[in-house]
Amino acid sequence: MTQPQRIEADVVVVGAGLSGMIAARTVLEAGLVPVVLEADERVGGRILTEEAIAGVPLDLGAQWIGDTHHRMFALAAELGVETYPQYDVGETSYDLVGTGVLRENDFHDRFGDELVALEHVLRHLDELAAEVPPDAPWQAPHAAEWDAITAGAWYDTQGLSVVARTLLEICTVGILAVPTAEVSFLHLLFTIQTCGVTSELFAESEGGAQTTRFVGGTTEIPRRLAALIADHIVVEAPVQTIEHSPDGVVVRCRGGLVASGRHVVVAISPVLAGRIMYDPPLSGIRDQLTQRMPNGSAMKAFFVYDSPFWREDGLNGQLISDVGPARMSNDTCIPGDDHGVILLFLEGDEARTAGRLPEAERREALTAELVRHFGSRAAHPEYYVDGEWSDRQWTRGCYNANMGPHVWTKYGSALSEPIGVVHWASTDTATYWSAYMEGAVEAGERAAREVIDALLR
Ligand SMILES: Cc1cc2nc3c(=O)[nH]c(=O)nc-3n(C[C@H](O)[C@H](O)[C@H](O)COP(=O)(O)OP(=O)(O)OC[C@H]3O[C@@H](n4cnc5c(N)ncnc54)[C@H](O)[C@@H]3O)c2cc1C
Repeated sequence: MTQPQRIEADVVVVGAGLSGMIAARTVLEAGLVPVVLEADERVGGRILTEEAIAGVPLDLGAQWIGDTHHRMFALAAELGVETYPQYDVGETSYDLVGTGVLRENDFHDRFGDELVALEHVLRHLDELAAEVPPDAPWQAPHAAEWDAITAGAWYDTQGLSVVARTLLEICTVGILAVPTAEVSFLHLLFTIQTCGVTSELFAESEGGAQTTRFVGGTTEIPRRLAALIADHIVVEAPVQTIEHSPDGVVVRCRGGLVASGRHVVVAISPVLAGRIMYDPPLSGIRDQLTQRMPNGSAMKAFFVYDSPFWREDGLNGQLISDVGPARMSNDTCIPGDDHGVILLFLEGDEARTAGRLPEAERREALTAELVRHFGSRAAHPEYYVDGEWSDRQWTRGCYNANMGPHVWTKYGSALSEPIGVVHWASTDTATYWSAYMEGAVEAGERAAREVIDALLR
């Protein structure tokens, strides 16, 4: 991965996240020569694993796959990365709308009727989402109506009790990483449709999106993928300008590196793609789209203990709360290792507020929340780390890009439509599990296919 000043390739790929590397690998397999230009000093983008304690990899970025993430299972198998199931034994701990801490069974006993009503709303969401074409949401029969309101506004009309509405908000923010008041209802339905049904999105077991983890941490996937195409990756090469014409592209990086090719695949989130200078300028609709697709706000905070003590009390390490700065948690222990690991999520407004506090203050508030739910042993972690993604220059927020009202219907057609020899990848352009690693792979394959079709067919 040395940095020459001029590179000739068939296909220039911007970004060595999963999507860009899959695009590069796919065109390479078709007999074309790619070069991937990566701004950061590492590959992997929104996948980042830290291992401060030997044998305890902590996924500060992507962590899980689910049963219908077929491309990711195949990729892991191909790369020799083993998987294991997410721990899910015991009760979840709840504290919503002033009840105080309640164990799952007590919570269900107390709010059974409200939860049944919530189930009905989720089934209704599934029915509406089924009407949304994932490759053209603006063509849904009620697209204009659904794109005119926010997901939150729709939720508010469903007659849910306060506890059910709060739970629905927490689950949805857990997916979108922004409050539902900021997201178009059509965008929510699109998100559900690309994943199947709400139960796949929200559940941690039985077919949900968070059932399976990677041995060694998720970073094993980009690390091993990068090794397969190492001769074609240049790191510390932030792309600044893309000159494009029917004859090809010239891509200029900060630091002077210039790569030329016949096509370019831009495999970064839309908002970052909009910060590159294109010559000639792209269409107004494309630029206006990238002005309107902000990334969400989320951070993960890990507490590592000498043992998973909560399991002794019949708890599964999950909390759902509207009290402290974290709305949810997970038991993310490593099989075969004695440590206990709890992961807390700060998403949407919580990431925006607590995420900006000094780390010590944030850690203190999170510790207090863990003590309330899991007892006094939670006060003494052996290790703590958290990670804020909007501070990262080459990510600027996560988990993905969202659309507010009117964006899909007025600008959405410009999301993945190639402009001449310029193609778009990244999970944010996917039609299957958009926002997830699975979507990153799908989008990378799709963009590579466009290039292969143009150059070889
Ligand atoms: C905290 C967190 C938790 C997540 N949890 C999960 C999960 O459990 N399961 C799941 O499936 N998904 C999860 N995701 C989402 C998942 O990480 C992404 O869907 C996926 O990694 C996106 O890959 P990508 O290649 O599309 O984009 P990215 O990973 O963003 O890759 C883009 C790359 O382009 C680079 N880049 C940016 N600008 C430039 C430029 N100008 N020039 C050159 N290079 C540039 C970046 O450095 C980056 O390497 C999570 C994400 C985060 C952040």
